[in-house]
Amino acid sequence: MSELDDVVLARLVASDQRYTPARRALVAALRCAGGPVSIQEIQGLTDDLPQSSIYRNLSVLEAAGVVTRIVGNYEFGRFELAEDLIGHHHHLLCEECGAMLDVTVPPAIERQLDEALEKLAKRSGFTLHHHRLDLVGRCAQCK
Ligand SMILES: [Zn+2]
Ligand SMILES: [Zn+2]
Ligand SMILES: [Zn+2]
Repeated sequence: MSELDDVVLARLVASDQRYTPARRALVAALRCAGGPVSIQEIQGLTDDLPQSSIYRNLSVLEAAGVVTRIVGNYEFGRFELAEDLIGHHHHLLCEECGAMLDVTVPPAIERQLDEALEKLAKRSGFTLHHHRLDLVGRCAQCK
């Protein structure tokens, strides 16, 4: 079992759930996806998991804090592993095909971003905890 599996197991146990084969398959699929994926994409990555099982188990994983649902311009949303498991990052969102890719910003630029955003938030009396930014445009395939 990998380190990630250990953390997932601990979170599931903490919410009175088991780490079943279906849930393991979902975590493995999300881990190698390279970005938030739709239910259809997850189905393609997990072979024979029925859609009802994917929905049900994603909800359990979401409630346990293992999976995050991303609301993009796709009606059912997209799913990825929680950011505290895979690290802080941003998303490239293609307006043409709806693809979403993970992108990591270099630490020096993240610091500058945080400084600028903190100033902006402060002006509205807002305390900034963290940020979520999507980069919207057109992907390499749709160009
Ligand atoms: Zn595209
Ligand atoms: Zn992501
Ligand atoms: Zn960031």
